[in-house]
Amino acid sequence: MIKTGSIKKIRQLVADAKADGKKVGLVPTMGAFHEGHTNLIKKAAKSADFVVVSIFVNPTQFLPSEDYHLYPRDVKKDAKQAAELGVDVVFVPTAEKMYPKGFSSFVKIEEITDILEGEVRLSHFKGVTTIVAKLFNIVQPDTAYFGQKDAQQLAVVRKMAAELNFPVKIIACPTVRDEHGIALSSRHQYLSESQLKKARGIHAALQEGSKLIKSGILDFGQVRRRIYDVLNTYGIKRVDYVSFNQWDSLEPVRKPGGKVLISLAVRLGTTRLIDNIIMNFKQ
Ligand code: AMP
Repeated sequence: MIKTGSIKKIRQLVADAKADGKKVGLVPTMGAFHEGHTNLIKKAAKSADFVVVSIFVNPTQFLPSEDYHLYPRDVKKDAKQAAELGVDVVFVPTAEKMYPKGFSSFVKIEEITDILEGEVRLSHFKGVTTIVAKLFNIVQPDTAYFGQKDAQQLAVVRKMAAELNFPVKIIACPTVRDEHGIALSSRHQYLSESQLKKARGIHAALQEGSKLIKSGILDFGQVRRRIYDVLNTYGIKRVDYVSFNQWDSLEPVRKPGGKVLISLAVRLGTTRLIDNIIMNFKQ
């Protein structure tokens, strides 16, 4: 496995792989790997011939008030794990390389980024789409792998790739959870034991919502109230939103139909956690 921060080098490596007839898969990450990441990498290793994993804590997707400087970083450990999983190249550019002085070209997807996470984290998705577009241009992958855990990000990246004609297939991978149902996140490193216990309520609340709908309660207002109740029972008091949206246009929905994304964001201390489930209703 090769580890490089050089755009020129990675372009050459990918060009060589493509010349050999290989299909290139890209897994964009911010590092501090957990099983959510390794699952994406395993999927890429299975379906692509040449796997590139990028590790880059992208400053433009953090608001000034957020945890950019605190965000966990362990490139050495991540790279070792990537090598074990059969990754061909780990791309670890510096912030200066990705955003040279005077950088001013951003990619902004309208509307779908103004709701949910975008409503609270104002310029977040502009940073995400800019870095993903840059990675797509640098690596030119045939396939790219994203987790359903960040469902809005997945929907936004899909829309961007389609609308801006990136010749890449976006592959969605299911959310990986711990034995208590907590969706794995690099930010769990910030949580205390008692906060981690409370975090179990997130998936429990989503499951309760889904159970209620399956039992025939089709009023999303009522389902939302039940979800809030379960979160409360687990000691989660600060809820940014509980939302029902069509998957994957993210249009708001009031009644079941098609695929519905039930997503939420909560705060435990200074840590913000998100999770979701997608329910499929037969038309
Ligand atoms: P991050 O390093 O947090 O930016 O995440 C990199 C990729 O891993 C994104 O596509 C995430 O959606 C995905 N990911 C993060 N956590 C999980 C998880 N628990 N299950 C599945 N995918 C995940």
